[in-house]
Order: sequence, then C-alpha cells, then structure tokens
Amino acid sequence: MISETIQKQRDFFLTQRSKDISFRKKALKRLQKEIIAQEDAICDALYADFKKPRFETMATETQLVLAEIKQALKHIDLWSRPQKVTGTLSNWPSSDYIYKEPYGTVLIIAPWNYPFQLAIAPLVGAIASGNTAVIKPSELTVNTSKIVSGIIKTVFYPGHVTVVEGGVEISRQLLLQQWDYIFFTGSAKVGQIVYESAAKYLTPVTLELGGKNPCIVDASATVKLTAKRIVWGKFLNAGQTCLAPDYVLVHKKIKDKLVAMLKKYIILSYGESIEKSPDFARMVGPHHYQRLKSMLEGEKILFGGQSNDRDNYISPTLIDQPKMDSKLMEGEIFGPILPIISYETEEELDRYLMHYGKPLATYVFSNTKSFQRKMVKKYSFGGGAINDTVIQIANKKLPFGGVGQSGLGAYHGKASFDLFSHQKAIIKKANWLDAPLRYPPYNLPFWFIKKIKYLF
Ligand code: NAD
Repeated sequence: MISETIQKQRDFFLTQRSKDISFRKKALKRLQKEIIAQEDAICDALYADFKKPRFETMATETQLVLAEIKQALKHIDLWSRPQKVTGTLSNWPSSDYIYKEPYGTVLIIAPWNYPFQLAIAPLVGAIASGNTAVIKPSELTVNTSKIVSGIIKTVFYPGHVTVVEGGVEISRQLLLQQWDYIFFTGSAKVGQIVYESAAKYLTPVTLELGGKNPCIVDASATVKLTAKRIVWGKFLNAGQTCLAPDYVLVHKKIKDKLVAMLKKYIILSYGESIEKSPDFARMVGPHHYQRLKSMLEGEKILFGGQSNDRDNYISPTLIDQPKMDSKLMEGEIFGPILPIISYETEEELDRYLMHYGKPLATYVFSNTKSFQRKMVKKYSFGGGAINDTVIQIANKKLPFGGVGQSGLGAYHGKASFDLFSHQKAIIKKANWLDAPLRYPPYNLPFWFIKKIKYLF
C-alpha cells in the first residue's frame, strides 16, 4: 500500500506536471482557498486535540501557513527563474546559470505540537519548488490529522500530494522506502532514526528538532518587559513549542524582582484560576502529562505546580534552582514548567550554555550592547532574539532551523523554496570559439599552468 502510494507520486512527478509554474501556482491558490474556508474547522480540531486556544491556532498555525503561501505565490516566478552568474575567463565564451530543480518525491513527517502548521508549511515549499509530497501527520493529534488529510484530498491530485495517517509503525514503514527528500520535524531521538534511514539511499534530509533553549537575563535588563515577554513565549501552546524558553539564567542581582514580575504576568495573562482560562492549552496526552508531572517531584516550586489528571492540565509553574542532574534539567522540558537559575559570572553561564549542546533558540535580555553581542557570538544556536522570545519565527526573510543537536537545514519563505530545490549548475558554451589550450597533447609551458588560477 505504502509502496503503491509512493509509486503514484513518482509517476506523477515523471509527467512533469508538478514542475509547471502555473500548475504550482494553481495548486497553492487552491490550498490557500481551502485553508481560509476551513479555518474554523481547523481551530475546532486543535481545540479537540489539546484545547489549543482559537487565537493561538489562528496566529501560530493557519495564518502563519497562509503567510507562507502568500509569499510563495508572490515570488515563485522570480525564485524559480534560472539565476545567471558571471562566467569565468577559462570557459569564455559561455553563459553560466543555476537552475532550481525539484528533488522529486518528498516525505514530510510532522509532530503534534503545531500539528497543522508543521505539516503544511513545509508542504508549501515542497510544492512551490515543483515536488510531489507525502505528509505523515502526528498520531497524537488525531483530529488535526483528519482535517489535514481532508484538506489535502480536496485540494490536490493524489499523485501530487497525499497524506498517510498513522503512528510510529506507519512512520517506520514510510522510512523504509526510497525518497528524494525527507523533511522531518520532531524529537532529536527520532531525528536520528530518520537520518539513519535516509543514509541507506543517500537521501537529503532536513531535521527540525528541539533543544534546551536558554533565556539569559543580565543585570541591565528591563525586568518588567523581560518577564512579560518570557511569560508569553513560554506559556504559548502551554510550553509545547520547540522555540519556547526552556529555562532562565538570571543575574543574581535581579532574580527576586524577575520572579515577582513573572508571577504577576502569569496572573495578568491567565487570571487567578488558570485552569478555567480559555487561553491556556493542555498537555497533548497522558504520556506527556505524566512526564511533566514527574518533573515536579522534589523541586522547589515558586509558583504554580497544580495539575489535573482529568484533562492533562499542568499549570504555569516556576521552579527555583533545580539541580543540573534533576529530571527537569536532563533534557528539553516541552511543557509549562520554567526553571529559574541565578548566575553571577560568565563562567557560571558557560557551565549551563556549554553543557546542553546547540539549542534551537537562545534569548538574551539585556540593555548592554556589548553583552548582547558577546552572547550571540560566543554560543552556537539555531536562532534567537534579543529582548524577546519566539518572535524570530515571524519574519519570513529569516531562515528557521537548528544547528548540531537542534537540527539540520532551515526553511520559511525563500529558504523553503531553496531547501526543496537542487541547485543545478549549467554552463551554456558558445561554439564560435574553441580555445585549444586545454586539449592534449599538452604543449603549454608550466609557468602558464601556474597562471590558470587567474582564469577561474
Ligand atoms: P516525535 O519525534 O516523537 O514524533 C515526530 C513524528 O515522528 C511523528 O509523526 C511520529 O509519528 C514519528 N515517530 C515517532 N517515533 C518514531 C519512530 N520510532 N520511528 C519513526 N517515526 C517516529 O516528536 P513529537 O513528540 O511529535 O514532537 C516534539 C518534538 O519536536 C520536540 O522535541 C520539539 O522540540 C520538536 N519540534 C521541533 C520543531 C522545529 O521546528 N525545530 C517544531 C516542533 C517540534
């Protein structure tokens, strides 16, 4: 069944239809129209999956994808045009180009935390570049998986784009097949499996993974705004955001003030009875709920700490000075629990920032320009923000992706188009001149060969 699906995709790709620019545009327009028509149903699906607030679904899922489509439609002609580059003396007379060639059939594996956006945003790049695609949504968000499948069926020819629904076993079977490109979003652990599977056929991959994203708050930071922006970025989607701050490293001098402000902004955002707030989501399922609940054991709770087994609710929680070898600090938290750790020296910062490898994001809160510069230059991470959190995702001109343990490759806007396109180098050689210099028998003096570098 899976191999038949892929064969259909390959056959469709071979018809060359998906490469036609007007075909790509029409497909994107149909997708755009269907998402607009189904926006309410998409919001309902995400609410049914983990009580994701409607505002958050629109802002971080549907509208973000619609922005990607709009951008692709606007620039597709320009992006897909062969790019002329200057020729070299050695090849003169010639015209030199980079052609953007679709890879072929692409597999997109999506996670559950932004289950609509992370299935469809990569698809926009894949089809804008002329590929055919198979999407595997997450099995943990069944309602969204269904609606994604329905939209794709309505919009696309089955050979062009198809959804294969299912869990880990289906994902494994998909990974056994040969693909022309694999785009994976999810955990580093599964990312390794994907990378290994891709190696068998030397398939190019993008891995959009997570990490333990630090928030560094130095003594010069504007505490009120810092707290407000950390609370927003951390508790959006109930902390289940790959870009969310994972823990805060705050200068000792302002720690108490920051904690007081964090508490204040949690209450201002979600009210005194957070469980009743329509603006706060739930953990996606019992497994993640229990995982997070167990992280609280033995920790010093500064705020929150409530949970409710009935609907996988964990309240926004602040933890004081967890030990580095605690469950909380072992790996990515991926939920509404925020450790607050104080530091005084740069060596103390290093101890944390060097320990967790290269995260997807790092946030620096400071009014000292030299400190901001130093943090950005010294530590390696996917991307980030100075004096804010998460918002780097909102600029389509900024490539979005990790580095090292947090991923491989970057997308959004033009970066998506380029990611799903092979850059084919082509030289069109003129026939009116054929300099004899390169052909044997080699009669040129060696001093001349040494000058050849100037011809490239
Ligand atoms: P996950 O790795 O468990 O699952 C992702 C996908 O892989 C799902 O579709 C799942 O069915 C499939 N899968 C799971 N186990 C598999 C296996 N053994 N073999 C083959 N396929 C398998 O991730 P998740 O829990 O859905 O998502 C959370 C993770 O994703 C977090 O680590 C988060 O940081 C990361 N993430 C990263 C980004 C990003 O853009 N960088 C965005 C969102 C989430």
